[in-house]
Amino acid sequence: MRRLVVGNWKMNGMASDLGALGPVYEAAAPRGAAEVAICPPATLIAALAGAAAGRIWVGGQDCHAAAKGAHTGEISAPMLIDAGARRVILGHSERRRDRAEDDAAIGAKIAAAQAAGLGVILCVGETEAERDAGRTGDVVAAQFRAALAAAGPVDPARLDLAYEPVWAIGTGRVPAMADIAAVHALLAREIAGAFGAAGQGVRILYGGSVTGANAAEIFAVPGVGGALVGGASLKPEEFARIIRAA
Ligand code: PEP
Repeated sequence: MRRLVVGNWKMNGMASDLGALGPVYEAAAPRGAAEVAICPPATLIAALAGAAAGRIWVGGQDCHAAAKGAHTGEISAPMLIDAGARRVILGHSERRRDRAEDDAAIGAKIAAAQAAGLGVILCVGETEAERDAGRTGDVVAAQFRAALAAAGPVDPARLDLAYEPVWAIGTGRVPAMADIAAVHALLAREIAGAFGAAGQGVRILYGGSVTGANAAEIFAVPGVGGALVGGASLKPEEFARIIRAA
């Protein structure tokens, strides 16, 4: 299965940054290279989709559960498609934290995104307190099950997961490789339980302080189907290094 490397720019990036992505396009170009997506802020989706011209995927960082309506400041899944996005990150821990997004809300967004034709990258992950309490497995399984239950029928052909320990995001801290392997194995069992053989194409990305320096070690962990990359995706040369490692 081809790995998927996704850059999450969060609330960073200006139009003037798009011209520096040459190394990313080059790293994504060779036959057999990993699939690559960048999820810029919504202001840059159309411009990046135009500039990338199919060399990488472009994605959104969130979408609303409704297709349109009186929701000031929100962006719908059909609007992401219209702007050139083909994927969307849902359930990122920063939105769970900052916007109090719960599994029911995330499930509704999964349904809306898939109905519009977007591929979903669903994020799950435990906090440091949950990890210290030995609850990592329970937490990520519960997040996955609850989001799926709230979504209704989910098409596994348009679904990938990202295991992102909250305490590893933007901190420079990374779990032990054995711990990443254990969570990915657990999520693979969850996917098999939910979708059976149809779930075999669902990739499980790792996210949390992935860099050019640690990417190869992380991709060597069994069950790691790619990476969701925050900070390092803002540096084209370093993001390209991660893509090459994948
Ligand atoms: C993220 O926010 O999804 C992320 C993984 O961030 P970082 O790579 O900066 O830890």
